[in-house]
Amino acid sequence: MTRDPRFDILFEPVRIGPVTAPNRFYQVPHCNGMGRSYPSSMTEMRRTKAEGGWGVVTTEEVEIHPSADHSPWMGGRLWDDRDVPVLARMCEAVHEYGALVGCELNHAGAMAANRYSRDVPMAPSHTPVALHDPVQARAMDLSDIANLRRWHREAAIRARDAGFDIIYVYAGHQLSTISHFLSPYRNRRSDAYGGSLENRARLLREALEDTRDAVGDTCAIAIRLSVDELMGPQGITSDGDGRELVEMLAEVPDLWDVNISGWENDSATSRFKAAGYQEDYIRWVKGVTSKPVVGVGRYTSPDTMVSLVKNGVLDFIGAARPSIADPFLPKKIDEGRVEDIRECIGCNICVSGDNMFVPIRCTQNPTMGEEWRKRWHPERIAPRHADESVLIVGAGPAGLEAARALGQRGYAVTLADGAEVLGGRLITERRLPGLSEWGRVVDHRIWQISQMANVETFLASALTPETVQEFAADHVVIATGAKWAADGIGRENPRGISIASPARILTPDDIMAGDRPDGPVVIFDDDHFYMGGLMAEVLRKDGIDVTFVTPAAHVSEWTYQTLEQHKIQSRLMEMGVKIKLSHNLTRIAPGKVTLACGYSGAQEDVEADSTVLVTMRNPVDALYQSLAQAGLPSLTRIGDCLAPGTIAAAVYAGHRYAREIGEGDMPNVPFRRELPQIAAQD
Ligand code: ADP
Ligand code: SF4
Repeated sequence: MTRDPRFDILFEPVRIGPVTAPNRFYQVPHCNGMGRSYPSSMTEMRRTKAEGGWGVVTTEEVEIHPSADHSPWMGGRLWDDRDVPVLARMCEAVHEYGALVGCELNHAGAMAANRYSRDVPMAPSHTPVALHDPVQARAMDLSDIANLRRWHREAAIRARDAGFDIIYVYAGHQLSTISHFLSPYRNRRSDAYGGSLENRARLLREALEDTRDAVGDTCAIAIRLSVDELMGPQGITSDGDGRELVEMLAEVPDLWDVNISGWENDSATSRFKAAGYQEDYIRWVKGVTSKPVVGVGRYTSPDTMVSLVKNGVLDFIGAARPSIADPFLPKKIDEGRVEDIRECIGCNICVSGDNMFVPIRCTQNPTMGEEWRKRWHPERIAPRHADESVLIVGAGPAGLEAARALGQRGYAVTLADGAEVLGGRLITERRLPGLSEWGRVVDHRIWQISQMANVETFLASALTPETVQEFAADHVVIATGAKWAADGIGRENPRGISIASPARILTPDDIMAGDRPDGPVVIFDDDHFYMGGLMAEVLRKDGIDVTFVTPAAHVSEWTYQTLEQHKIQSRLMEMGVKIKLSHNLTRIAPGKVTLACGYSGAQEDVEADSTVLVTMRNPVDALYQSLAQAGLPSLTRIGDCLAPGTIAAAVYAGHRYAREIGEGDMPNVPFRRELPQIAAQD
């Protein structure tokens, strides 16, 4: 197929100072939990993006000096020349496909506690570091500022020597010393580097000029700036300091990479923000500078991309998450295969990998982070190992991805589900407030398998052990999912909760099926991800009096990993949900529940006509267990049916099954590892 001429504009080369990008697809800096610790994995992931058509591929944050050591977060490093070879490999990999490669240099100042280097952190003014470490950053004097400029300059030279085409001066996300100087909120200095905007921007301007002086003849100089910190007049605002700053430095860099901060606003999830949400803040930038502008907003639609360029909002379509969910997004547009794009769902599971200091993972793209480790390519997969048939029971995320990938390999696949529609848990979860984009997980796979002559689907087909056996497939995969428990068993109460009948107990499955309590309700969230908070939203919207109880210290505590915790707790508070933290639910009786303080054990009763238990899910595995007795030649259970988990884990399980079928016994460690090395003494 060929490209739709409407999208030609996206494939125009764009000049950035001394270099030229082959097109307008720009993978902006993004963390990946691999960086310096898993450099082969990081390199292969970036190479795949370049292969998929991104005209510019950049690093994540690259530390320039041990005085700002962001451990245990695993970004890149250019502390000295010994760090050059790793990033040189990344540059070579990206250059293989004709893309430009960019390096986001950073000195994280008071955001880094220097847990590894044990150096004393530095900031514009004395301040405790982020993360609640018992560590303070010291106020920088003029010699510190001179040193920082020297480190930045030396790192820029190393980056050029590694092969980078674009060198960043990072002033975004309140994550860099340069941005701390800029911020009226953080900078309390009264010298030439504090006070007026001109003074606060002095270090930024100097770093830009130093970088240009050092490497500007061959490399483009980019600035990454948060034009609005979303903290009102205390911080930078896009109609105040942010705009003045762009006006002041308009022609100084070769490229403006603009966004909003902090990170939770820049990488807002679809639960809270629609695609394009940053446009209101950055629309004016192109009118102020003649230099190319890149911006982000979870853009996955080529029509939107074209209108952004045509309307003079952006020159480059920046993407972190859309490039993670589909590293081949540009190629698919180029080849006239727009409907094959695997669109990001805005869930931030990718961010959770980085926040947990492990390689990135993605709900939509099970190969993300596995490009080197498992040699999984997002588009290519080996042909079937034999002319065999596979019956998959259950068309949730696990079953659908298994069907899609097995279909791609050429197996004869039958996908059967008892429900009237495909989608499993997402049939109902996508209808929860803010989760509609999550439906893309099933929509994408349903479309893909609809194009495959070798994949058949059967709906409203609840299979029994007998019907499965009659089917006589060479391989049977059970992906029958899970159901929420109604007995309270979970982390805090491994033996369940005492329930005196006729107390009314509901689970999220009941609520999603339309069951509604009328009187006051207690939600007990021992799960800590999104479901408990969403149950509170749903019921509160119905005008029900809701008390949210959790043994955790925060509402939806794990959503800290997806950058949503603060937003979720604020939303519940705004909606008038009563919140009881650090409390267990010990007894449920008609009309009331008993809570116990997690610290003192003190008990109290709370009025509740109904209790919604969000504790754990139980596998729906009766079919699997019966078939296991029957001794089928090849029987496997995957996804929630094996052990309930995230949608990302179910998609991964389906994909993994499809990759490993016919492989025989897998080794104990079924992936390549980047082993620690004993250092040569010097
Ligand atoms: P996962 O997240 O692991 O993919 P889901 O819960 O999303 O699991 O999907 C499981 C699917 O399995 C549901 O669509 C459900 O209707 C289907 N299912 C469960 N038991 C049977 C059965 N015996 N026959 C056919 N389909 C079944
Ligand atoms: Fe998008 Fe979710 Fe994948 Fe991140 S994990 S890229 S937010 S689909």
